[in-house]
Amino acid sequence: ATPTALLVGTGRGAQLGILIKGPEVLESTRRVDTVVLDKTGTVTTGRMTLVEVYAAEGTDEREVLRLAGAVEHASEHPVARAVAAGAGERIGALPSAEDFTNVPGRGVRARVEGREVAVGRRLFDQVPEEVAGAVRAAEEAGRTAVPVGWDGEVRGMVAVADAVKETSAEAVAALRRLGLRPVLLTGDNRRVAESVAREVGIAPQDVVAEVLPEEKAEVVKGLRAEGRTVAMVGDGVNDAAALATADLGLAMGTGTDAAIEASDLTLVRGDLRVAADAIRLSRRTLATIK
Ligand code: ADP
Ligand code: MG
Repeated sequence: ATPTALLVGTGRGAQLGILIKGPEVLESTRRVDTVVLDKTGTVTTGRMTLVEVYAAEGTDEREVLRLAGAVEHASEHPVARAVAAGAGERIGALPSAEDFTNVPGRGVRARVEGREVAVGRRLFDQVPEEVAGAVRAAEEAGRTAVPVGWDGEVRGMVAVADAVKETSAEAVAALRRLGLRPVLLTGDNRRVAESVAREVGIAPQDVVAEVLPEEKAEVVKGLRAEGRTVAMVGDGVNDAAALATADLGLAMGTGTDAAIEASDLTLVRGDLRVAADAIRLSRRTLATIK
């Protein structure tokens, strides 16, 4: 491949809304056979809204939302933003939180009005069946639901909804037409992940869910160890290691700087269909050169 021909491919990429880190990237793009897609913010909009608040027997719903909102106010996570915004709208001014801790891939803890409050999954030793049932029902409806507790007891849950991007199903179909196998990867619950997968046309056996942020790169490594050439598409800080580990990392231009820096390609408008365009372009560009 001559450098000039590769650069022509790069210029065409810019027109399509693809930023390419260097001309050599086209070569790995061409060989890709598997595409790992992050769920939140990549396949879905990532703009979540609060849709349900549940309080266990003997607890007030407003109290669940008020304390959850106060804790989540200190976090940047999409789930947190939705809970804090929903609480602000429905309750008004929220109490302040102290000693805030973020537990990546799980949730948050802080002290509010002298109570030790936690919001998230896998943060509690025990979730009463009443609350666990409400969580399951919300997850079956495709929502992300997390228990809320204080002073060592789970008292309720909050659920948020995210929408699949309008272009995602079409993008998955285009990737398949190129002979690629799409895999959905997420830290979110399996029921939620499968509901999104169904909507975009990914089989349940190609869903890898409940993966901790630091394990995302391991999943990519595992696929590479099976002999696959892997592209990873992501947007979050959590995706950066997996993007760097993949044969080809593609960042959503709408995503975080960490994801963009770790990637070979950036899809400027955050449109997943452009991932298929990028692969088609690199195959065509390199075919012309040969
Ligand atoms: P994803 O892979 O979808 O980007 P993360 O790894 O960031 O998700 O988080 C995985 C899960 O952990 C979320 O779906 C949510 O259930 C829980 N979680 C993470 N952070 C928070 C938070 N601040 N508040 C509540 N739940 C959270
Ligand atoms: Mg994401």
